[in-house]
Amino acid sequence: MAADSIVPDVVLAIHGGIGLDKKDMTPELAVKIRADLETSLKAGYAVIAKGGDSLDAVQAAIVVMEDSPLFNAGKGAVFTHDGRNELDASIMEGKTKRAGSVAGVTTIKNPILAARAVMERTKHVMLIGAAADGWAKSTGLEIVDPKYFWTEQRWNQLQEQLRKEKEHRDHGTVGAVALDQRQVLAAGTSTGGMSNKQYGRVGDSPIIGAGTYADNAACAISATGHGEYFIRHAVAHSIVDLMKYKGVPVNEAADEVIQRTLKPAGGEGGVVCLDHRGNFAASYNTDGMYRGYITRDGRVQTLLYEE
Ligand code: ASP
Repeated sequence: MAADSIVPDVVLAIHGGIGLDKKDMTPELAVKIRADLETSLKAGYAVIAKGGDSLDAVQAAIVVMEDSPLFNAGKGAVFTHDGRNELDASIMEGKTKRAGSVAGVTTIKNPILAARAVMERTKHVMLIGAAADGWAKSTGLEIVDPKYFWTEQRWNQLQEQLRKEKEHRDHGTVGAVALDQRQVLAAGTSTGGMSNKQYGRVGDSPIIGAGTYADNAACAISATGHGEYFIRHAVAHSIVDLMKYKGVPVNEAADEVIQRTLKPAGGEGGVVCLDHRGNFAASYNTDGMYRGYITRDGRVQTLLYEE
């Protein structure tokens, strides 16, 4: 269980999920995960550094992690109980509260791009299932055969869970929060959900206010963990409320919800938060959370456990 103290002057922060228990991590895998986190941070930072929007930075950072097989999002998504990959994603901007999300999609290569397209090209916030896949195709987003999301590691993991008959959180949802030069916050989250989940199950990641939220008056948040708990406790929005209505600093607000509300309720997980002044805080009630941040002057930090 841990809460990082506040890091100032951050322009972009990401997470790559709760990750493996520390005892299961190998030095080789840690190197690969850190390298992809760093690539993601640099992709987002390039957008901010040239005066781009926080939404574009969040999107750029998440696309890198969706394309990596190491995270449970996009390419590396986990399987449902019946052996499919169903992906969820959302994105939100903190100035106008524009938001978009997709849930249960099966053919969109980068679900975060579909969430963004829902935000910008429809009157709605959320599209689901086959309708969302079809709509994304009609807008020109890259569509893949569902086999694209098949990876041996996730498939073997499902087979093992089926043997043990348990649902499992697999640990690799991705998310990003960013603050641009116009002082606009944005947040985004993308996931394959929980391995061995029931067909049609939707978690917190595409739910605005649960897994993702951005409010320029408080902070931008992306969550990872056992989605049902994050939905019940409206985690992302609760953190914003504590800051906005009670003046609680970002790290204390995150801790209040993750350590003192979610944990006693049995909800495992964590959040990355970036406030409107560029203060970054992370809080998680598990062994670790893959995460990283980059400061205004380009200093990169990646962390997997308590370090
Ligand atoms: N929050 C995701 C979900 O419940 C899973 C995760 O973050 O590991 O779908």
